[in-house]
Amino acid sequence: MSEIKKNIDNLLKQIPDKVKLVAVSKTHTIETIKETFELGQRDFGENKVQEMLEKHEKLKNLDIKWHLIGHLQRNKVKYIADFVELIHSVDSLKLLSEINKQAKKHNKIIKCLLQFHIAEEDTKFGLNFDEAIDILESNEFKNFENIKICGVMGMASFTDDLEKIRIEFKKLKKIFLEIKLKYFKNFNYFCEISMGMSGDWKIAVEEGATILRIGSIIFGNRTYNKT
Ligand SMILES: *Cc1c(COP(=O)(O)O)cnc(C)c1O
Repeated sequence: MSEIKKNIDNLLKQIPDKVKLVAVSKTHTIETIKETFELGQRDFGENKVQEMLEKHEKLKNLDIKWHLIGHLQRNKVKYIADFVELIHSVDSLKLLSEINKQAKKHNKIIKCLLQFHIAEEDTKFGLNFDEAIDILESNEFKNFENIKICGVMGMASFTDDLEKIRIEFKKLKKIFLEIKLKYFKNFNYFCEISMGMSGDWKIAVEEGATILRIGSIIFGNRTYNKT
């Protein structure tokens, strides 16, 4: 049995059925993605537009759902608009506006998550609660017809302090519920909480994650010097 199969089987055994697993394939090869696809995995996550675009081009014949999980620059939205499944990393009204514009060009609706800054490190991207409210209250937002906000995303601090991680995930869940109640009460599609990575996915599931973004414990450690 391949390592990847072993790792995925082991994960799927533990993840509740209603939680979606996004296999984070950044830095890994086309062959690795193909192999994983053949095991039944359909959702893959990439954090760089260029890399996702290249992989999508080479794997066009496979029914892969591509998730953009990394920071997205406005001028790059056009490259992924026609095929992206879900953009996890929306962190400004301007970005949302560009996504709406590009989606309109392709006559489609693009699903997005609002990314929140829940970790203590200030290196991580994301909105705070008030910034999100400003977006959701804006007239511009109300006129976007080609995007659908499906929920929230966040990354916990990179730490061994499990209690701290739990508190951060609880915070994201609370933000989700508040926004749901205020703006999306009757919209069933607003239902996603994307949180949990290789090191903290168990806590994320306990705290209400609906999407896990997992790389290393499926594919092994990443090496960034690509050949
Ligand atoms: C790389 C990455 C992951 C996966 O990280 P692992 O620790 O390898 O599971 C999840 N989310 C984001 C945003 C990432 O960039």
